[in-house]
Amino acid sequence: MSLNINSLVIHGGIDGDERTGAVNVPIYQTSTFKQDGIGKNRGWEYSRTGNPTRAALEKLVADLEQGEYGLAFASGLAAITTVLALFKSGDKIIVSDNIYGGTFRVLDKVFKNFGIEYESVNTSDAELVASRLTDEVKAVYIESPANPLLTITDIAEVSGIAHGKGKLVIVDNTFLTPYLQRPLTLGADIVLHSGTKYLGGHSDVVSGFAIVNDAKIADRLYFLQNAMGGVLGPQDSYLMIRGIKTLGVRMDRHVKNAQQVAEWLESNEAVAKVYYPGLKTAEGYEVNRKQADAAGAMISFELKADYDARRFFEELHLITLAESLGGVESLVCHPASMTHAAIPKEIRDAVGITDGLIRLSVGIEDVRDIISDLDQAILRARI
Ligand SMILES: *Cc1c(COP(=O)(O)O)cnc(C)c1O
Repeated sequence: MSLNINSLVIHGGIDGDERTGAVNVPIYQTSTFKQDGIGKNRGWEYSRTGNPTRAALEKLVADLEQGEYGLAFASGLAAITTVLALFKSGDKIIVSDNIYGGTFRVLDKVFKNFGIEYESVNTSDAELVASRLTDEVKAVYIESPANPLLTITDIAEVSGIAHGKGKLVIVDNTFLTPYLQRPLTLGADIVLHSGTKYLGGHSDVVSGFAIVNDAKIADRLYFLQNAMGGVLGPQDSYLMIRGIKTLGVRMDRHVKNAQQVAEWLESNEAVAKVYYPGLKTAEGYEVNRKQADAAGAMISFELKADYDARRFFEELHLITLAESLGGVESLVCHPASMTHAAIPKEIRDAVGITDGLIRLSVGIEDVRDIISDLDQAILRARI
């Protein structure tokens, strides 16, 4: 029976425990498994290679992304690192010019040392992407909406162009989750997640995922997952399964709150600029509407010059200043000094990640409380 996503989040993957009838997948807190004889195991050998709790979660995220194969990792960056290990010295990867700071850092400070090059390109411009697909380029790496400026890339268009030249397309789908956008159905080859964010949803687990359809890429990724070892443990796998059960209801509220907050910010005269792809005035509004079911709940904005952004952060009461996003609680951060500090200032300024930029992860609290906290902090930040 094929289920809709609001049922899949609860019943997808491996539903419960066949042996005992337990409604929840048990936590198999074990590192190894008894073998009945040499070469005779019961499907499990060692928990780096495979663990039943992790396997249930892996199948679940694959089902949600409408993919064949899912792999769970100890963090989003462990998933990203394992996927980047598909490439070899001399290969080049085209990446969106505003991406998660940690992704930029691992490309720039780690993989470059192994001879894997990258080039930052505005992937919203499909013609520009097409012009950069030289022979050494093996993949295009996209975030849409991108972190932190929420720029939108047309995933189907870029996938068409990239596939025409034999390149892979990798999409980090952390900001929208499969509840709102399914990149594999738009043509992407590999979907990545920081499960730490909306999938987990409660700011209590660090995890990451890769999901693919192609059996050959999946085989290589399973090999790398075991060979490199950045796997998710059974306790955290259980917490992820538990978090994902409420993904639908959480995302519905996140999106509803974010739309109201974005519209409120846009009409506030203290605010110079609002970035949210759900605003009709946003550059990527139409493309996002075409490829996603909603615009998510991440908003970035800048206050006008006569407001002190530093003061604004200090005056917030309900909204917490912290790294991360996607939890039930509203969080705010200063990308230039926090999540994107690894990106050199010249690049940050050129892309628009200014020192005055504020990034807001809209939680699922009562939206009136979120707006009144923003309102009083903005008033107090006036110079
Ligand atoms: C947080 C994040 C990551 C990294 O994930 P971790 O779980 O922190 O390792 C990657 N991509 C995006 C878009 C993120 O927000």
